[in-house]
Amino acid sequence: MCDFLAVGAGFSGAVIARSLANAGHTVSVVDSRLHIAGNCHTERDPQSGVMVHRYGPHIFHTDNEQVWDYLNQFTTFMPYTNRVKTTSGGKVYSLPINLLTINQFFGKAMSPAEAQSFIEEQADLSIEDPQTFEEQALRFVGKDLYEAFFKGYTQKQWGCSPTQLPASILKRLPVRFNYDDNYFFHKYQGMPRDGYTAIVERILDHPNISVRLGTQFSRAQVKDYDHVFYSGPIDGYFDYDLGRLGYRTLDFREIRTEGDFQGCAVMNYGDESVPYTRIAEHKHFSPWEQHDKTICFEEHSRACEEGEIPYYPIRLTEEQAMLRDYVDKARREAGVSFVGRLGTYRYLDMDVTIAEALEASERFLTLREQRETIPSFFVEPI
Ligand SMILES: Cc1cc2nc3c(=O)[nH]c(=O)nc-3n(C[C@H](O)[C@H](O)[C@H](O)COP(=O)(O)OP(=O)(O)OC[C@H]3O[C@@H](n4cnc5c(N)ncnc54)[C@H](O)[C@@H]3O)c2cc1C
Repeated sequence: MCDFLAVGAGFSGAVIARSLANAGHTVSVVDSRLHIAGNCHTERDPQSGVMVHRYGPHIFHTDNEQVWDYLNQFTTFMPYTNRVKTTSGGKVYSLPINLLTINQFFGKAMSPAEAQSFIEEQADLSIEDPQTFEEQALRFVGKDLYEAFFKGYTQKQWGCSPTQLPASILKRLPVRFNYDDNYFFHKYQGMPRDGYTAIVERILDHPNISVRLGTQFSRAQVKDYDHVFYSGPIDGYFDYDLGRLGYRTLDFREIRTEGDFQGCAVMNYGDESVPYTRIAEHKHFSPWEQHDKTICFEEHSRACEEGEIPYYPIRLTEEQAMLRDYVDKARREAGVSFVGRLGTYRYLDMDVTIAEALEASERFLTLREQRETIPSFFVEPI
């Protein structure tokens, strides 16, 4: 029996801890926060009774059968389809841009084929090799849709002009020529009936696992364990000695009222004149529940400063260079593997996080048995 440490009680740390515990090892899990589940933490708001997603809305969606089956051991998923609306120029539209959006926006009643030719006419085909987000959007959908649905939102989300962001952010044509407004294409989609924190609580509920909250890990502790799985920020592990990797953070401004505030879970705001990117009304994430009161949060995005919560990694040229240097340092460390969204400085959906954590623990157990070197990364972070 070995003694392992998982730093972070989010999905990464919890899933790894459970796999190692199932294999007969003892695992300590520490988190500097006072709750488990990391950024997926949910809790009941005492005033309204609504299940609130503390660090922003989380909707589970996946094509990964293994992850779906894994989570279904720990929760009951309720049917949920993510349908997003957006307010632009004082009008409300359906997202992602679909036939209803196009017809409403241009005041027409086009068929799918007519809309497709119409959008092709709008697209700026003089841009042959789009380099920036703006060029990519103009080439796909043209100026009017770009300005109404992408320009202001992207500027607010990333704090820079879409002309400074790479084209790769907008990979596919962001338009559907039918009335399908389901945000995700995945086979499975749902909301855990008792929230995400209850899932993580059940994952961690194993006699071989002990959890310590409000406990900050530091690099000097690595030597106390047979191996450490670190899901904290990679730059934080090295006390930011090469500088800070850039993140966007979020400020949530609370709105409380009676009844229904906006009639849907998520309303985006595309106009630059509105300071927030979206408002989430959390009771609509649990449509099977009834609540008289409601609680919503405006989401304001800005650069993450020291001591604040890192949400979205920026990963532009400057950050990529710094990341490479941190990854080189990390590869020279013994006794620790860097995992999860912060450990590898990537945006990861929950299903990918869980899939990677299952894969990492499986590979770790095999390598250990074969007495082979344990890598610093189980996935390539660059
Ligand atoms: C705004 C937002 C919305 C999202 N919405 C969705 C969604 O709708 N669907 C979806 O699938 N995914 C969504 N995600 C992604 C989801 O949040 C991540 O997949 C998930 O949180 C990753 O889990 P993790 O365990 O790797 O990291 P985290 O959840 O961040 O957990 C890391 C934990 O480590 C702890 N920690 C860090 N450093 C230390 C230290 N030195 N000592 C002790 N503890 C430490 C932190 O306190 C934290 O609790 C969203 C992300 C964001 C930012």
